[in-house]
Amino acid sequence: MVNESAQGAAGVMCPGCGGSSVRTVEQARAERKAGEKADWRSGGKPERGSLADRLAVSPGATDSFDSVMHFLEGMVFTGLGVGLAYTGVQQDKPLYTIGGVLLAVLLFVGTIVVIRGEARERVVVPRGELLAERLWRAGYYCSGCESVFCPDGSQWQGTLTPEQFKKLMWTEAGYADRLAHDDKAKEATVPAEALSRTGGPHRHV
Ligand SMILES: [Zn+2]
Repeated sequence: MVNESAQGAAGVMCPGCGGSSVRTVEQARAERKAGEKADWRSGGKPERGSLADRLAVSPGATDSFDSVMHFLEGMVFTGLGVGLAYTGVQQDKPLYTIGGVLLAVLLFVGTIVVIRGEARERVVVPRGELLAERLWRAGYYCSGCESVFCPDGSQWQGTLTPEQFKKLMWTEAGYADRLAHDDKAKEATVPAEALSRTGGPHRHV
């Protein structure tokens, strides 16, 4: 029997498998993070399906620099539409003119929508992160059966899969709609009995 990770989690046993190879979610995530290319806090996102991704506290927000780049890219493509329209006027080709104008308008509007969404994200995500982090800090991860649990049951009861845990955190934080379409957590359902205790987070999962 190898007790590989008793440090920092002395006396805590997994209610799922009874194992003691448990760490706080914070530790579990940090340990795996070392081998990854980018730190999720600095704009990079952990690889899809990695433990760090499965336990991610938030989607992270697009930073201002990226938004400026997206705006410039949008304007370059809008410029191409304008150029096409201009060519249409010069060469008396109405189809070019109409197509170019439509393209320019669509790209311009599309760019503004994206930029506004990113700006909203920079407000919504940090606010929700505070709520998600409360769950995150209360969580323990068992590497024996890959489950997440809250030792004192104050936030939820029993064990959750990493996907259910992520769904719970992101729902609590108000950005569950930001789960990527290929993220398994998107389809996860948090069992009602896990949330039956009062005093924990709001129940609307
Ligand atoms: Zn376990």
